[in-house]
Amino acid sequence: MRPSLLAPLFAPARLLRGVGPRVEDLLTKLAAPRHPGAHARVIDLIWHLPVGLIDRALIPSIAEVRVGELATLDVTIAEHRPGPPRRFRGRGRSPYRVLVEDASGALELVYFTANSTYLKRLLPVGSRRMISGRIEAYDGSLQMPHPDHVVDVDGNAALPQLEPVYPLTEGLSNTVLRRAITGALARLPKLPEWIDAAYREQNTWPTFAAALARLHAPESEADLLPSAPARMRLAYDELLANQLALAVIRRRLRRGAGRALTPSKRLRQAIAAALPFNLTAAQNRVLAEIDADLASPHRMVRLLQGDVGSGKTIVALLALASAVEAGAQGALMAPTEILARQHFKTISALAGAAGLRIALLTGRERGKDRQQILATLNDGEIDILIGTHAIFQETIAFHDLALVVIDEQHRFGVHQRLALQGKGAGKGAELLVMTATPIPRTLLLTSYGDMDVSRIDEKPPGRKPIATRAVPLDRLEEVIAGVERAIAEGAQVYWVCPLVAESETLDMAAAEERFADLHKRFGDRVGLVHGQLKGKDKDAVMAAFVAGEKSILVATTVIEVGVDVPNASIMIIEHAERFGLAQLHQLRGRVGRGAAESSCVLLYRQNVSELARERLGVMRRTDDGFVIAEEDLRLRGGGEVLGTRQSGMPSFRIARLPEHEALLQAARDQAHLVLTRDPDLKANSAVALKLLLYLFERDDAIALMRAG
Ligand code: ADP
Ligand code: MG
Repeated sequence: MRPSLLAPLFAPARLLRGVGPRVEDLLTKLAAPRHPGAHARVIDLIWHLPVGLIDRALIPSIAEVRVGELATLDVTIAEHRPGPPRRFRGRGRSPYRVLVEDASGALELVYFTANSTYLKRLLPVGSRRMISGRIEAYDGSLQMPHPDHVVDVDGNAALPQLEPVYPLTEGLSNTVLRRAITGALARLPKLPEWIDAAYREQNTWPTFAAALARLHAPESEADLLPSAPARMRLAYDELLANQLALAVIRRRLRRGAGRALTPSKRLRQAIAAALPFNLTAAQNRVLAEIDADLASPHRMVRLLQGDVGSGKTIVALLALASAVEAGAQGALMAPTEILARQHFKTISALAGAAGLRIALLTGRERGKDRQQILATLNDGEIDILIGTHAIFQETIAFHDLALVVIDEQHRFGVHQRLALQGKGAGKGAELLVMTATPIPRTLLLTSYGDMDVSRIDEKPPGRKPIATRAVPLDRLEEVIAGVERAIAEGAQVYWVCPLVAESETLDMAAAEERFADLHKRFGDRVGLVHGQLKGKDKDAVMAAFVAGEKSILVATTVIEVGVDVPNASIMIIEHAERFGLAQLHQLRGRVGRGAAESSCVLLYRQNVSELARERLGVMRRTDDGFVIAEEDLRLRGGGEVLGTRQSGMPSFRIARLPEHEALLQAARDQAHLVLTRDPDLKANSAVALKLLLYLFERDDAIALMRAG
């Protein structure tokens, strides 16, 4: 139970003065997007930090501004000048402009991508606004393209000299948000210090409360930087909570008895003999690392990293075979049904040679079949169970589960993994987590603590580089013509449709439209898969593609993970600018697995953001997953790395990686030091650290400690 001291912070934001239902909804949208259905709380507002600062002492008139400088202006909105309708637009830019003026002159705000309804509400003609942004010259007149901030100004109120500018959402003004945040800060209880006194002094960091106060009332631009002492202090707090929680979890996992599995290698040899290839040196090395873990009496908790196509599946199978040789059972869990079925197929084919008994269990096995599987599993007549998360439901009992392999782990959160570990049969089992997402070192630390890591850093021989091109969408016709030539020669093509929104329905609509298009042209050689398709239909389409009956597979990102069709050699990604780097890399990794030369076409829309352009550039330059991951981290600035939302990796509210990497190391050291002395945080001096864990919502770690 969370200490009552913190209750005011976890109260709904609705309780704050000036926050009614409408504002509450906006605050939720803005500051608490991570728990669907949840409402913004006081603490969500406290973590919502300003990104800018308006200094009214330094506001120039329009006549005084200089091209190239960042300026904040106090202006009146004079006129809206929408661009010509879309159909009249040529290739050039035809932005939406808004003319603003002050007593000294006028300039235009310029929006290249704009929703006119939104702009009219943000900038009503005749109203007074403070706007900040970079001044540019175009055709001899002054412009401010895409202002960084627009803040409304109540002409009568006494304006503060310095005003922090917060990230906003449509309909919520800076003034209203500031008032709510001021109310939130007033509810901050007096908290004990959790940072070591000497360490805090050495860094000249403020107290927790002073740091928050300063961040919400910056006095200069420097206060907004990741290197500001107040920011550093809070980043350290957040990282310390993260590292402490992970260390607690890790210690718990290790504490499980584990068992020494000393396999005979009989099954493994039989499987290896049936393989049409030799294992790579990297695969052998990784297997040896896994074997050593299995043979030791401690429980294995190991992460296996290997780029797409590096051959993790066979490593998993050989590890599972070890568990079976030792007379126990193994389980392999995949994130999607398509992938579980594919694993089942691949592994059944290979395991047959060794006489392994394999079964598949997903949400789709129901009724009698399911009962049958469960019964044989319980009797120990199934050696390896493959499936989706369905295999770890409470009702499922293994006879003697010794090893759990979780594939493509980036879809699962740390919490889920732990839950698995705790459950009946999974309790005490050795754990191997496999991921194709190359995870930069800093992120390994923040999302796995110091879990043991094995890397397959070598691809099977004979892989050819994938020729990657970025092509603007208006050359779609050329691309389709190229596809036509390629499939005439027997090639197979993935055509991935854009992520329109965070909505499966919209994704699907885009894919269906493209499918209809291509179907007109190529008839039944085109197939379509998306997440909403019934299991059976999904299988049928995939099977037809694998069998070569379909030449083009139009898909949403359901194919992102793990699908293996060696004959497919062309990957087309529509609206590639909407995908993150990690995702693009995963998608591209679906081709280049067979003998044919492979290629990847990144179709992008005109006028993409600078960031999107850089991402496409990275994809063209390299296909090394680790390089891509580091670039991703750099481009995203660490706030939300590798599609963290869906990945279960932590996205920090205050800390920024790689900027705060040194703090991460220090936090890790402190966490270990503390837990070595006081593993369950029982000492009086640990009260503050427990508060810290609650404050950053690592209740899971506290629950684990309590469970003993
Ligand atoms: P991933 O690491 O992405 O899960 P897979 O296990 O699906 O990769 O392997 C990709 C492909 O490479 C499969 O077709 C597999 O049979 C093949 N493969 C795996 N190991 C080797 C090897 N040592 N030599 C040649 N091909 C291999
Ligand atoms: Mg795989």
